[in-house]
Amino acid sequence: MARSRRPLIAGNWKMNGLTADALALAGSVAEGVKQAGWADREVLICPPATLLIGIARAVKGSGVLVGGQSCHAAASGAHTGDISAEMLRDAGASHVIVGHSERRTDCGETDAVVRAKAEAAWRAGLLPVVCIGETLAEREAGRTLTVLETQLKGSVPAGATAARLVVAYEPVWAIGTGKTPTTAEVAAAHAHIRRVLGGLVPDANAVRLLYGGSVKGSNAGELLAADDVDGALVGGASLKADEFLAIAKAA
Ligand code: PEP
Repeated sequence: MARSRRPLIAGNWKMNGLTADALALAGSVAEGVKQAGWADREVLICPPATLLIGIARAVKGSGVLVGGQSCHAAASGAHTGDISAEMLRDAGASHVIVGHSERRTDCGETDAVVRAKAEAAWRAGLLPVVCIGETLAEREAGRTLTVLETQLKGSVPAGATAARLVVAYEPVWAIGTGKTPTTAEVAAAHAHIRRVLGGLVPDANAVRLLYGGSVKGSNAGELLAADDVDGALVGGASLKADEFLAIAKAA
């Protein structure tokens, strides 16, 4: 990993967490991060929107960053049930995940929608974590690299730079399944992503590329050591402080 790329370990809590347990989990992560005193990596947690303000307050001063899991492209208006990037920022977020495969599947988000959300993140002063990844059918059809290229070109807005963009490679078939690609497959996907970014971002070599999909404490060391992997986007394992901290330690 190039020294200039500071690893980012991001926890995506998805639709999990009620106040008491969530504050306890965030408190344990914050305590672990504070004790470790890591200056060489970043730790981010993305709780459900209802918990953002409380968790942002709870982790203040620990070094733990807080992000949203999605945002609307508009800043405000008649969009019942949605949350804008500005609202996330107002609640204490510094990052927002956009284009997670569950949003692409559950809510029909296209690359164009994801791109608009990334632009909204910039408008609000948030750093977007843009997710891309192939389905099992696409992998089995030998289309992984083509799919990643199409998603990247469609989802990354013009004007992206390494300081304004994080990309997460999340094979859909690896999310929540306990299955992971081999480190060679992860490295090949990341190398391809970086090559494609070369045509989209002036400083593509400095863009952080996260791997996501069934990362846990026991496999993090191997996955994070793969070439061009600059951190992890973690779902299930981010709901257990020990597991999540073990992943952050492995970075
Ligand atoms: C995710 O949803 O972003 C994810 C990677 O989930 P999991 O770690 O549970 O596979």
